[in-house]
Amino acid sequence: MGSWNYTVFWDEAMNQAKSELGDHEFAMWFNIQYDSSTEATIKIRVPSSFYRDQLIRQYQKYLEAKLFDLMGKRIGIDFIVVKRTTEEGPAGTAPNGEAPYKAESGPRAKEKESASKSREKHSQLRSDYTFENFVIGDNNGFASNAALAISKNPGTSYNPFLIYGGVGLGKTHLMQSIGNRVWQEIPKLKVICITAEEFTNEFIQSIHDKTTQNFKNKYRYVDVLLIDDIHFLQNKLGSQEELFHTFNALYDANKQMVFTCDRPVSELKNLSDRLRSRFERGLNVDLQPPNYETRCAILRKKIEAGRISVPDEVVEIIAKNISTNVRDLEAALTKLVAYAELVHKDITLEIAQNQLKDVFSQPKHGNVTIDNILRVVADYFKLSYNDLKGKKRTKNIALPRQIAMYIARDITEYSTTELGFEFGGRDHTTVMHACQKIEERLKLDPNLESTIQSIVRSIKDYSSKT
Ligand code: ADP
Ligand code: MG
Repeated sequence: MGSWNYTVFWDEAMNQAKSELGDHEFAMWFNIQYDSSTEATIKIRVPSSFYRDQLIRQYQKYLEAKLFDLMGKRIGIDFIVVKRTTEEGPAGTAPNGEAPYKAESGPRAKEKESASKSREKHSQLRSDYTFENFVIGDNNGFASNAALAISKNPGTSYNPFLIYGGVGLGKTHLMQSIGNRVWQEIPKLKVICITAEEFTNEFIQSIHDKTTQNFKNKYRYVDVLLIDDIHFLQNKLGSQEELFHTFNALYDANKQMVFTCDRPVSELKNLSDRLRSRFERGLNVDLQPPNYETRCAILRKKIEAGRISVPDEVVEIIAKNISTNVRDLEAALTKLVAYAELVHKDITLEIAQNQLKDVFSQPKHGNVTIDNILRVVADYFKLSYNDLKGKKRTKNIALPRQIAMYIARDITEYSTTELGFEFGGRDHTTVMHACQKIEERLKLDPNLESTIQSIVRSIKDYSSKT
């Protein structure tokens, strides 16, 4: 095994990550060390299972893609939890890596396994998107109950079931909970879960490959079909047509369909009438932002699941200050926990207030924050928030980023210097340049104007819920 030494590539990947993500984000998350390698995997030591989960979720794909670029071959990353034996370390500073390590002993991992049911995980479903992990609150009671009923008897009532609402409110989680429950409890049923985008891509690919018949068979012989984010189908006429036929076949056979959408179906544009009427046929329910009590309950659930310790007063202050959506709520908690782990301190009210200062009191102009703009633009272009804010310069990110800067300049009172700072620490000239570029493009591209208008509307809509 010793003959596979990839440290050079790893170090370079770390260098690039640092410059792309920025020092702050890098210091927060990349408190990790190269351990060893086999031919196809690199083992990386991380200080806790919390870190491991976050790294897997947020950075694993990113890092693996980077290694692929550097090495020209696919290499997997395996994060292993190695706890420090000395917990001290100078308070308030990042630990310097060279402390003695000991591997986290097995019980925790084993407990986790036995807690999840007998059947192995469904490849398209996230194993943590379950009813057990979903808090039923004021904002989702009806939707949750309908979802539970459906998972008991798929295909018999509420068909299709369509969940709509703004970003980060739990649509995907709730939909996948149905999938996970059916997968566990009724093993004979075939469950497929994909995004509308994947459906579209796969359909187009099947036309290329002349395998449309396989494609049709795949989606017409399933018992539970879950399709996420159907707003993606707007303007995609071919895929709409295909989904229409799939819908009819499944509907006639009493097979369950569940969809999610970021707005009511009636507000989707460039969607064929007949598909629209199919979507509206069963039960359409919306998810609203959760109220204070529900927000507290959600935080407590996450804390319990992550086996972390956070005092009640901290839960309350987060819930009080973050009312936009569950994703933001989680992000604040994650940030806090990451910080506490980094400096080896317990979370206190004081630490929370300090660390979450920016999140709590984002300078607001109207209700529109830069964060809201970044989130909505990222969502619109199907990019991650981090990519948009980060330093990557690839074309598919550069234009959306310029659009976000242009919009921010247009609808907020921030100066270009402030904006540069908010957009991942850039110079004010970058912002000015972006605005110029978009102005030029607006003259040439008539569609851009309506794109921008529609994004601005979503931003205002999203911000009014703040
Ligand atoms: P959406 O698909 O509506 O954008 P997600 O389903 O991705 O939102 O939810 C965003 C995050 O919030 C996820 O991590 C999810 O687990 C969490 N979440 C949302 N609603 C709840 C809830 N009621 N209880 C627990 N977690 C929730
Ligand atoms: Mg979603």
